[in-house]
This record gives sequence, structure tokens and C-alpha cells, in this order.
Amino acid sequence: MASWLIENAAVVTMDDEERVLPEADILIQGAEIAGLWASGETPRGTTADRRIDAKGMVALPGLVNAHTHCAMTLLRGYADDMPLVPWLQERIWPFEMKLNEEDVYWGSLLGIAEMIRGGVTCFNDMYHYPEATMRAVLDSGIRGIVSGVVLALLPDAKDRLERAIELAGEWKGKGDGLLVTMLSPHAPWTCPNDLLERVVEGAQETGVGIHIHVSETEEEVQNSLRQFGKTDVGRLEEIGLLDISPVLAAHCVHVTDSDIHTLVEKRVGISHNPGSNMKLASGTAPIPRLLAAGAIVGMGTDGAASNNNLDMIEEARLAALLHKLQARDPTVVTAHQAIAMATRGGARALGIGDRVGQIKPGWKADLILLDFRQPHLFPPHDVVSHLVYAARAGDVRTVFVNGRPLMVDRELRTLDEEKIFAHVAERLKRLM
Ligand SMILES: [Zn+2]
Repeated sequence: MASWLIENAAVVTMDDEERVLPEADILIQGAEIAGLWASGETPRGTTADRRIDAKGMVALPGLVNAHTHCAMTLLRGYADDMPLVPWLQERIWPFEMKLNEEDVYWGSLLGIAEMIRGGVTCFNDMYHYPEATMRAVLDSGIRGIVSGVVLALLPDAKDRLERAIELAGEWKGKGDGLLVTMLSPHAPWTCPNDLLERVVEGAQETGVGIHIHVSETEEEVQNSLRQFGKTDVGRLEEIGLLDISPVLAAHCVHVTDSDIHTLVEKRVGISHNPGSNMKLASGTAPIPRLLAAGAIVGMGTDGAASNNNLDMIEEARLAALLHKLQARDPTVVTAHQAIAMATRGGARALGIGDRVGQIKPGWKADLILLDFRQPHLFPPHDVVSHLVYAARAGDVRTVFVNGRPLMVDRELRTLDEEKIFAHVAERLKRLM
């Protein structure tokens, strides 16, 4: 694999010291970041196969979309302005019943192309036909954490779970470690205890994590209290599901103080999805309280049917704005906290935070360059503030994953968008 020297970029490292280097050089060798120096301090004789003059650009760790359903790009704009349960039961689930593996493959590639264009280098996916999304991950070169969704209402739920456990074991670590697998019971309200218990066993047998929706709506939590005498978090703790590592709990909108204590104690990763929570009117997750309690919080777009894009820069802005409004306090969820959730927070929540989510020598070369030589990003008083409050997905110019360029100067290197559009359009004729 070619080595790259990125010169003269402003580097937002997201490292433990939270350094922002005004002008620095980054050396990529193989899959890793081999060097990071302030410009002028780069050792003489440092060479690379390719160089990028990144003057006027900002380098940021790749964005981590901690919760999505990638192939739901097929349903973008298909059903909007409805409450969660009828939205799922009347529109989304009936459409999904018609999907086949190739539909999910092309829908996943569409979502991956969108995410690469918006600077996402890693996504955590829960959906049907996970083999299709796994193939899309390997074909595109993005980092993907993929699991096959299981819910009791599917007629073959138990068989699907056994197949998901097999797949998680077979595919984990493929693509030079780019592919990570998990198990994904849809949510406590759609999975009875015996199904959840088998998920826990399966995770132990295969050594993979668990991805699950938790306490997205108030109704779910009320039903859980009536049926089990426990909140979702309390019930998952009792089953032993929170003892698996990692567990990624998506949403956590309606969690109690005691739930927050449990989530922190068990080191459960949380994906905050403000766009989806606002669009489905699910509520506002208590992110300031979770962060203050020391929870591991990442951020996700959720599926394109409830967002309706996979733009993590927009998501970071929504998070910063939503919590200020809710708390009526402009100091709540700072730009830095929002970007941290969208990068290293997501990586930590997904159990890969020891190698992904920071620009740091020895870490995976998952990083992006944004073009700040544009009117809406000038003058660059504070690049972190601009990333959250002024930047757009289209400002991302170049994207590296595992040291491989997936987009250079806005040109995708591994995917053919025209081909993806043609396949998706053709498949929709049958699905509609
Ligand atoms: Zn979701």
C-alpha cells in the first residue's frame, strides 16, 4: 500500500490532550499513522510515495456513525411525519419484508458512498441480510461493524438468530480487521427474555459485542415497567446482557438516574441520535447528564428513513443545538463535546477506541481532510467551532480508511456511484 505525507494541515487530533495543531504534517504508512509533526519539525529525509499539500485544510479523525441501518437508504423519503410505532408497523416493516439480499447490498453501497462523501470512516450497522452489508463493507474499504437484526415478530426469529451467531463468528475480522461483527437483538420491547438470553450466549461463544436499541420511546419503558417491573436497562442487566463487551445501546432517550448509573458502571456504549429522535419526536436523550456521569457516548444518524441522511457533521450540529435549547443554556454540549462524540466517543462506544478515533502515531489511519478555503468557513477563528456550527458534509475532500484513500479531492476511489444509482433504481421498481 502506498505511503502518504499530508503536509501543512490544521490538525484536530482528538487525542487525550485535545491538541489542535495549527499547521502539521501527517505520515501514513500501511494501515497506520506513522508520524505527526508540527510543520517545520518533520524529520529531514521523511519521504512518502504520495504527498498532499493540505494548506487551508483541516484534518480530523474520520467520523464514526455509531448507529445506523445503512440499506434503509432504499426507504429515504418513503414514509415521513409519522410516530415511531405506526411508522414501523404500517410502512417500514411491510416494505422490509420484500427486501432480498441483493437489495440490501446495493442499498448498503448507496449509504456507504454517501457516508464516505461526508467523512464517515466507520459505521455500526444493524439490518436484515447482514452478509450483504458485510460484502459492501469489504468492497468499499470502509470500516464497518455489522450485525443481523433479530426480532421476535419475524416468523423465523430463532433460526435467524442462530444464523446471525454463525455469521458473526465466520466474518469477524475480515478485510484486514476492517469488518467487525456483532449480534443485534432489535430492542428489549421486540425481544422476549429467551431470545435475549440466547444472544448473550451467542456473544460469549463467538467473542463479539451486542448492538441494541434501548429506551427510544417513553411508551416502551412504560410497557417494560408494567410487564417486567423493570426499565429496559434494568431488564438487560438482569439477563446479563450488559456484561458483554462491548454493548452499544442506541438512543437511551428515556433512562432514569439509576439506568444512567448502570450504563456507566457496566461501561455500555451509547449512540446519541438527535436527528432521528427529533424527527420521530421520541424525546431528548439526557446527554449532558450522561456525559457528566462519565458515560461513553458516541453519535449516530440512525437509518436514512428517520433522518433522512447519513451526514454526521449535521448530526453533531443538531446535538449541540438541541441540548442548548432543551436546557436553555448555551454552554451545554460544546462544539468540542459534539465533535468528540462524533469521532473518538463513537470509537470507544464500539470497543475500537484503542486504535480508532484520534490522529495519533501508531493508530489506524482513518482520517479526513476538509476544505476550509471557503466563504462559509472563513475566517478560521476556531476550527472546532466551524466543524460543528458552519461546516457541511460537502466540505470533506479526502478520506482515508486503514491507510487507503477512499476519496481524493471529492472523487470516490472504490465505488462507482452511477452504477449504484442504476442498480438501486432498478430494484425499487420491484419493491414499490
Ligand atoms: Zn435504529
